[in-house]
Amino acid sequence: MLDFDLFKRNALEIYDNLQDLDARKSQRDMLSWLVDVVPFGGFVAAEAPTGSGKSLVMLVAAFAAHLQGVATTIATHSLVLQNQLARKEFGNFVRRVPRKLVPEDKLSSWKWGLLTGMSHYVCFRKLDILSDAACYSDLVVADSKERMTIVTRERLAYLRRSEASPLKGLDSVLDRDDDVLRGVVSASRTLCAGKECIYRKNSCPARLAARCTYPLTITNHGYLNGVLKRESVDTVDTVEKKESRAGGLFGSEILFLDEAHHWAGYSSEPSSDRSIEEADLKSILFSPVPAPFSGHSFLESIIESRMNIWESRLKRGKCVDDKISRAFDTWERIVKSGRNISSLWREDALQNIEKSRGMVEKMRRALKENTNHTGAVCEDEKSLERSIENKLPRVRFTAFFSATLPEKRIYSAETGTSLSSFLRFSSPLREDTKTRVSVWIPQDAPSPSEDPEGHEAYLIDFCLEYIPDFISHNLGGVLLLCSSLKRKSAVARALIRDVVASGGILLEQGKMSRSSILTTFASMKRSVLVASSSFREGFDAPGDNLTWVILDKLPFPRPDDPEFKRRARFLLDRGIIENKFDLSVSELRETLRQSAGRLIRTKSDWGAVTVVDSRTLSRGHQWGLDEISFVPREKWRVDSPPPDVWVLRMKSLKGGAGRKFELGGDLVEDSDRREPFEILDMIGNPFAFPVD
Ligand code: SF4
Repeated sequence: MLDFDLFKRNALEIYDNLQDLDARKSQRDMLSWLVDVVPFGGFVAAEAPTGSGKSLVMLVAAFAAHLQGVATTIATHSLVLQNQLARKEFGNFVRRVPRKLVPEDKLSSWKWGLLTGMSHYVCFRKLDILSDAACYSDLVVADSKERMTIVTRERLAYLRRSEASPLKGLDSVLDRDDDVLRGVVSASRTLCAGKECIYRKNSCPARLAARCTYPLTITNHGYLNGVLKRESVDTVDTVEKKESRAGGLFGSEILFLDEAHHWAGYSSEPSSDRSIEEADLKSILFSPVPAPFSGHSFLESIIESRMNIWESRLKRGKCVDDKISRAFDTWERIVKSGRNISSLWREDALQNIEKSRGMVEKMRRALKENTNHTGAVCEDEKSLERSIENKLPRVRFTAFFSATLPEKRIYSAETGTSLSSFLRFSSPLREDTKTRVSVWIPQDAPSPSEDPEGHEAYLIDFCLEYIPDFISHNLGGVLLLCSSLKRKSAVARALIRDVVASGGILLEQGKMSRSSILTTFASMKRSVLVASSSFREGFDAPGDNLTWVILDKLPFPRPDDPEFKRRARFLLDRGIIENKFDLSVSELRETLRQSAGRLIRTKSDWGAVTVVDSRTLSRGHQWGLDEISFVPREKWRVDSPPPDVWVLRMKSLKGGAGRKFELGGDLVEDSDRREPFEILDMIGNPFAFPVD
């Protein structure tokens, strides 16, 4: 139990004395708020924009709690962010901690544990099977995409040795590109032999990692969500059972959820088990593991154990999803067409599908006879508050952090939490970026809702006219975010030749792995990345690596997206919104902020944001779009200048960050320096500032 006064004093004192810290007022305000609300317990939320230093605030609070022996869990959205927090930001924080204030033993005992889900650890049982198979010669293994790799006995032995510590996952022993071997040797819940496995009790890395408790547990939303929704056959879990399932999470009293906008929609998620069962069965059917794992008896035992769980749920008034049969038809089509499945396993998979289909039908008949079950899907309302209370009963305080949160009433309803405090902090970058960011909305672009074809043609012409010129002047990287995969491909196809001819490199999402795209983009200054919505988050390219973000249109959610429809229905039914468009606009504001936020990650970043959508000007005010990247409407550019003038504008923005800056090839001394916006206005007026 925390001594709250001491906790608060420690946290603020540590923050105020951190070495080499570029202290920010908004960051300290956030920490003060956090340590003030912890004593009340329950749920709180804070919107803190990029650059406000949320991670450091969480680490300081977690460390202050550790000084009193209280453990904390931080859950980030993705594995990349999780690794960044553990391997980079944690170390930076520890280096800065003032030694005079903190006993050395407290500092040395502060360790993190990474919970990343079973697939990030090696399965010793699979290694055994592979080692036996590789007894006389090297082994060729294939994954579900028919990619192959060779494994030697030495390599298998190396994997076993390096997995000795549960803290190490596969990421630390296998190359990022070694996807095939990773898929073959990684542990998986579905293929785990459970009690049959001799490693289960003492040496299975995945289980050891999950069982350890750490002063600071760093996990991701997927893992946490898995723990929260896992159900047992028993109606009431014993503490031991909960502990064994939740592992390191179970010991924490404080929970911080970063990138917490992803939890919106938790309450309206269907509580049926379709997705779990589909995923389970699919991974068995298409498993890229050696034959013993894909045997029928194994499949049979899995389905039987599922039947028990379904039956017990039914007894507790829950329903069984009957849509699973449809999934079998789809899988059969995929297997027969030969896509996404190795020919090595095709025969096996077809037999397994047939067998599974029969078993599920049998199960459904049995359930109907016994209980008059109709097979309908029922959707209970979920609540994150209830789930955390139930699965992680030791957690007494939970804080959501995000760069973009919707209104409090919407977020509270969508997560199923009663928020006792909800604050929005301003960005420390707001003042710094005013003169280094330009927002450009070409007003002659056709409206994408009224003339979609005309808009696409305009977008392609726009990109061809401006991007190659921009690249040839070595002004930095370009991120072009498209609203659909189809449009992304069309734009990339149209651009590639001109970008290469101007000395640049064109990267297209889907043509290479995400990590390779990130590495290439960071190492090549003249990169153009054409991507879809998934690059709106988790894409960090500070400095000159990214200086121009282009959105093909305003990022409204798709009205036919099943998740959007489900969330809108949920909020409408409860009277939280009046019509679907309210949710659309709320999502639009968040997504636009996220997308534009790719540009400004640090104090010294500069560049331009372009939205090729004239509705931003005509209807933007009505939709609450009064500023983009801290630039107010009055400062937005709306003209369509010749490409060389656009290049000059960008050069002047770049110069705004330094003491001297280059304008059309001339160096302008400090005494002659004008504010970039003033210069831009002059460039826009050919009589005031002639440009060749
Ligand atoms: S317990 Fe499961 S995951 Fe762990 S080594 Fe055994 S089979 Fe693999």
